[in-house]
Amino acid sequence: MNAIDASTRLVALLGSPVSHSLSPAMHNAAFASAGLNVRYVAIDVPSRAVGEAIRALDVLGFLGANVTIPLKQDVARHVDSLSPVAHATGAVNTLVLRRGDGQPAKIEGDNTDVEGFLAALRPYRSQVHGHGALILGAGGAARAVVYALAREMAPDSITVAARSRTAVLSLMNHFEQLQIAVDAVPFEQAADVAANCALVVNATPIGMYPAVDVSPLPSGVIGSGQVVYDLVYNPTNTRLLVDARNHGAMAIDGLEMLVAQAAASFKLWTGVTMPDGPARQALATALALRSAGGGGS
Ligand code: NAP
Repeated sequence: MNAIDASTRLVALLGSPVSHSLSPAMHNAAFASAGLNVRYVAIDVPSRAVGEAIRALDVLGFLGANVTIPLKQDVARHVDSLSPVAHATGAVNTLVLRRGDGQPAKIEGDNTDVEGFLAALRPYRSQVHGHGALILGAGGAARAVVYALAREMAPDSITVAARSRTAVLSLMNHFEQLQIAVDAVPFEQAADVAANCALVVNATPIGMYPAVDVSPLPSGVIGSGQVVYDLVYNPTNTRLLVDARNHGAMAIDGLEMLVAQAAASFKLWTGVTMPDGPARQALATALALRSAGGGGS
């Protein structure tokens, strides 16, 4: 690994909380393996300071950033341009700073969650095609999921279950402009809808460390013939996935999405393909340490 010196460049993870994230372990291992003098740091940024944080990335010479919970939509308002996918989702998980001679950087917002989400779901396309899909949550990740399903999976219907009416209306209005129809139900009705869907996606943080014994759905709601996809990756085996597997469902955890979205972001920042083996090894080590030690950063 290169020593940190005056030419070291930084990439940030911006969000709140960020202490649960495994992205620093994964990206730092990948940068080192690729021989790049780049480091990845997690920075807790409250929503009120998102604009200042993005401007600071330029002043401090950052190469780029990832954006996580709960900033993915706010960030879209503070960038110079949006990639077509970020524009279509209305959510940003990756920032790329492009610099010219002495000018302030041009900051582009991109969304690699769409590609990351699809990477693990493509093998299940025949189960999803022509059937109902339910998404739990109406935040930044849910928007990537809606767009990804509509673009590649051709479900018969897409329903979002959310506790905030404002958030779900905003999501529905956004996708209506793209001719993507989305139905909505209150979060309390999620279990009724889930029972009749081929695919259920958890795009809420429910079940994430440290509240690992909680599930967004009661046990037994999802069973044989259904696919359940939990975007939560810490822990990998969430309560939701364990319950669904025990009742015969096919379960997809959030780890493959984490690696695939990271690889796409890595390429945008560096132009280099992310070394897959070292990134996965670092993730496995970080997860093992987490389960042995009970969390932390
Ligand atoms: P976000 O923008 O903050 O959205 C979270 C959504 O979950 C919101 O709709 C929120 O509702 C809802 N929610 C939170 N707690 C809830 C509860 N107790 N009951 C019902 N709804 C609840 O976050 P995000 O960026 O979309 O991320 C969501 C999850 O996906 C996180 O756990 C994140 O780590 C995970 N994720 C994983 C990957 C991966 O690579 N595996 C990628 C992206 C995201 P309110 O608006 O009412 O708060």
